[in-house]
Amino acid sequence: MIDPGFSAGAAARPLITILAPVKDEEAAIGPFVRRVATVLDALDEPAGWEILFIDDGSRDATLAAILAAHAADPRIRCLSLSRNFGKEAALSAGLDHAAGQVVIPLDVDLQDPPEVIGTMLASWREGNDVVYGVRRNREADTLPKRLTADLYYRAHNWLSADKIPEHAGDFRLLDRKVVDVIRRMPERNRFMKGLFAWAGFRQAAVEYDRVSRDVGTTKFNYWKLWTLALDGITSGSTLPLRIWSYLGAMVAVVALFYAVFIGVRTLVFGVDVPGYPSLMVATLFFGGVQLISLGVLGEYVGRILVETKHRPIYVVRERIGAELQPVAC
Ligand code: UDP
Ligand code: MG
Repeated sequence: MIDPGFSAGAAARPLITILAPVKDEEAAIGPFVRRVATVLDALDEPAGWEILFIDDGSRDATLAAILAAHAADPRIRCLSLSRNFGKEAALSAGLDHAAGQVVIPLDVDLQDPPEVIGTMLASWREGNDVVYGVRRNREADTLPKRLTADLYYRAHNWLSADKIPEHAGDFRLLDRKVVDVIRRMPERNRFMKGLFAWAGFRQAAVEYDRVSRDVGTTKFNYWKLWTLALDGITSGSTLPLRIWSYLGAMVAVVALFYAVFIGVRTLVFGVDVPGYPSLMVATLFFGGVQLISLGVLGEYVGRILVETKHRPIYVVRERIGAELQPVAC
C-alpha cells in the first residue's frame, strides 16, 4: 500500500533499516533494541540506521515498550497496524515504509543473531542484492518442526518454478531495488519467501547458527504453518491443478483397456455377474480422488476471490516517529 502525504529529503535516508514485525512481544523489545543498537553502532556507518517495528495488532504492552524505546532513541520508529494481519502482511507494511538503502527483516526474539549483519553488509558491498541467512543447524527447533520444514522446502521446490533456498528464513539483507520490486507486486497473498525468489537479482548466502527463543513464545502453531505452506505452494505453482488432468487421462486409458478386456472375456466365456467388491472399491476410490481434486480447485478459487476483492494488505492505525522518505515507487 502506498502512503502519500509526507516528505523528507533523501538525505535523511539511513543506510540500514532493521524491520521487526512484532506481535505480543512486550518482554522482547528492550533486549532486542539494546543488542541490535550495539551491533549497528559498532558498524560505524556514516549514513546510520533505523529500527522499524511493525506492531501487528499486539494486545499486550508491546506498543508502550516501543514508545519508550523511541523516546530514548528517535532512530526507532514504529507502524502500528489496526489489527493482527499476520507476519507476511506486517513485513509488507515494513517494506513500504522502510527508509534504508538496505532493509533487513529480523525477528524480535533474537533467534537470528544481529551480529551476522556485518557479514551481510560486506557481501552486499561486493555487489550482491540479496544476502540471505541460512541456518547452519536447526537444533533449536523441535524434531517434528525440522522434519516438516524439510518436507515443505522439498515439496515447494519440486512444485514451483521459483526455488526458495532451503533453511533460509526471513532474515536477509535486501537492497533497495529488490524492496521496490517486492512493493510493486500487487497480490494479497504475501508469501514473502516466494516473492523474494521470484524477484531474482544477485543472491548470496551467509550461514549462521539459530538459537532458541528465550523470551516470549512462538506465534506459529502447526495449523498456521500449514496455512502458510498452502499459501506458498498455491502462489508459487499451478502444478496441483494440472496433475488432475494427467491423472484423469491415465485412468481413462486404463479404463478403456479394461473395457475391451471385459468385452472380449464376455464374448469368449459368457456373462459373469460377480464383481461387487471390485466395483465398490473402484467407486469409492474415484469418489475420493474427485473430492480431492475439487478441494484443490477450491483452494485456488478461494485465492482468486481474495485477490479480486483488492482490499489493502494492511491498515495502519498509528505511526511513531517521522517518515524519513517519500515512499512512491
Ligand atoms: N509475528 C507477527 N505477526 C504474527 C505472528 C508473528 O508480527 O501474526 C512476529 C513475531 O512477533 C516475531 C516474528 O514474527 O517477531 C516471528 O515469530 P515467531 O518467533 O513466533 O516465529 P518462529 O520463530 O517460531 O517461526
Ligand atoms: Mg522465532
